Amino acid sequence: SFEPLPSDFYGFENSLSTQEKDLILRLREYLETEVRPLVNDHWARAAFPMQVVKGLADLGLYGMPWKETQPFANSAVFRGWIALEIARVDASIATLVGMQNGLVMGSIGVGGSPEQRAEWLPKLASGELLGCFGLTEPLSGSDSAQGLTTIARREGDHWVLNGAKRWIGNGTIADIAIIWAKSAEDGQVKGFIVPTSTPGFSATKIENKQALRIVQNADIVLTDVIVAEENRLQLANSFRETAAVLRLTRAEVAWAAVGNSMGAYEAAVSYSKERIQFGKQIGAHQLVQDLLVKSLGNITSSIGVVTRVSQMLDEGVQRDEHASLAKAFTTSRMRETVAWSREVFGGNGIVLDNDVIRHFADAEAIYSYEGTREMNTLIVGRTITGKAAFV
Ligand code: FAD
Repeated sequence: SFEPLPSDFYGFENSLSTQEKDLILRLREYLETEVRPLVNDHWARAAFPMQVVKGLADLGLYGMPWKETQPFANSAVFRGWIALEIARVDASIATLVGMQNGLVMGSIGVGGSPEQRAEWLPKLASGELLGCFGLTEPLSGSDSAQGLTTIARREGDHWVLNGAKRWIGNGTIADIAIIWAKSAEDGQVKGFIVPTSTPGFSATKIENKQALRIVQNADIVLTDVIVAEENRLQLANSFRETAAVLRLTRAEVAWAAVGNSMGAYEAAVSYSKERIQFGKQIGAHQLVQDLLVKSLGNITSSIGVVTRVSQMLDEGVQRDEHASLAKAFTTSRMRETVAWSREVFGGNGIVLDNDVIRHFADAEAIYSYEGTREMNTLIVGRTITGKAAFV
């Protein structure tokens, strides 16, 4: 039967509906039997367990927010718990769901016409198609609202795309890419659904990454890639729609950051009960308890923040700055928590088999992607002061 996670100290997860809790129970079982046993090995080899794409689809996890594909009506808080529960086991696998469900299906959900939604969302929800999301470029990261250099030129009933993208998760294994490019006609950012088999599309894996090693990130080059007008996201006519997608996904990354913290903290609690120093369990020493309690405080306050930001989405009042504050706050707390949890292990904390160093390293990528801490801070700062301080 359903119990809140041991690190959900106030039992926030009890607020989910019975149907939502049932799915969480099935997800936990899947993660413990099919995901946890393989993550350290895949992380070490920077390999991607392809079977997980279908396994998560079969649980119904990709289509959750969209009426075309959701298995049952559900809340944003529930979808946040899904991101948290997965990241608690492995943040790379949570990133996979965040990309497929959030960035890719989100782009089509926000920017697609009813026909485009009907065509693409079910195939993505079932895992028949895997997607990737191409916004960041080699020369444009934080400034992608104005700095994109990938250009889309209209020629009759199709568009010609030229440019490059960097850091694109799933880029080498995806069937379709959502590519954001500046229109040569009006200078506005537009989104395109591009099958990765299209001539002129090439993706190369970024090697030697030391965080989220299971995620396959790619450099993408687009050379005279032809995309039919019907594959342009019909309702995405400026960066405003791109930002709307990012608002949704940032809030879920904030949840995943809490899950990544929990994974590290729970490992530290277990270790503190096993390891004996000075004749007693290290967890019986006051300073070790201090590390654990500060970590639990970070996790508990973060759950409060992400719960409210997701309720605000369901209430229709969530704005960019709300999601940004949640992302900046929880990823900052995560960075402290994974470091304190690693500290509890002493030297054993840097051995991959003990899990905690994976959560520690993965935290660095989560801290920087989907808007760095600085960018999200500036979005909130603009709201507080009325002054945009980006440039
Ligand atoms: P930069 O923009 O070069 O920033 C470098 C530093 O300067 C940062 O600390 C930044 O905060 C700071 N900085 C920049 N401008 C300012 C300013 N005005 N004021 C103060 N500080 C500033 N992108 C995609 O499109 N699709 C993906 O699937 C994807 N997946 C990713 C997965 C991983 C593992 C990683 C690491 C990144 C991924 N990204 C993806 C890219 C990610 O969104 C960018 O890395 C992020 O937006 C930051 O851009 P950047 O790395 O170019 O850093």
